[in-house]
Amino acid sequence: MAELRVFLPRPLADAVQDAIDRYARLAHADDPSRSIGELSVGVFADLVLRPWDTSRPAVTAQVTVLWPLPGEDGDAPPAEVDGHPITRAQLRELLEELDALCPGGLRAPAGGSLHLALVDPRTGALRATLTRGELERLVRRGCRVHPATDCGCSIAGRPPVTDRYHPSAAQRRFPTVRDRTCRHPGCGNRAGWADLDHVVAHAEGGETSCENLCCLCRRHHRLKTFAPGWRFEMTPDGALSVTSPSGTTRTTRPPGYWAAMGYPAPPIGAELEAQLAAGPGEDPPF
Ligand SMILES: [Zn+2]
Ligand SMILES: [Zn+2]
Repeated sequence: MAELRVFLPRPLADAVQDAIDRYARLAHADDPSRSIGELSVGVFADLVLRPWDTSRPAVTAQVTVLWPLPGEDGDAPPAEVDGHPITRAQLRELLEELDALCPGGLRAPAGGSLHLALVDPRTGALRATLTRGELERLVRRGCRVHPATDCGCSIAGRPPVTDRYHPSAAQRRFPTVRDRTCRHPGCGNRAGWADLDHVVAHAEGGETSCENLCCLCRRHHRLKTFAPGWRFEMTPDGALSVTSPSGTTRTTRPPGYWAAMGYPAPPIGAELEAQLAAGPGEDPPF
């Protein structure tokens, strides 16, 4: 559960509260088995999310739930890019946890989507993203090679490479959840407003894969595409290095989820320490 607060002028607050009360009382007259408090929460969510309203541009509420993969050895060396397998038993445990969270289980909000972000508990690195429907299907189906057993094979991970220019839905989701903001050094524009960019351009042989897609806001996407002399490189674990025309390089890493989940931050790379010691660069876009 969580609490949502709004700070607004008194007359507006009173009017909002009064409208919620009135709708909740109408709903209570239809269904006296539910309390006014419970109905007020439903009324509030419906008025904001407006699942019935097709007259406006669609706004999709997106909820991302972080889940540290269980059963990993805390003393193991930091993971290689894709770490340990994500097994059917682990996914079943996640599904059971989601179903225990609230009555009916945790599901996408009306008019919205629910993404499950599976992260490595040691590094905070994103390992896979799933919708609830995908999670249910994987738990039901299990491993393709050994169906109907808990074989321990990995059954989830990054979406595979496609040969098309446009990323698949799963390929859009992974870097958006991984990056959370524009990845240009110093830019904090939200990923929801960002473009998904092929770091090595598709026309130059760059593949459509999570290892070659990153979030850039429109301004920095334009800079990368049109400004001469800028160089962008990304490692498979998503560290993006940007080199300006004057030769200054800054590296950003996916923000990781260690802080959000209370895990200690992984060691900072030597090049990142050097950058911090060097202070802010001279190039205005940084
Ligand atoms: Zn298997
Ligand atoms: Zn940006």
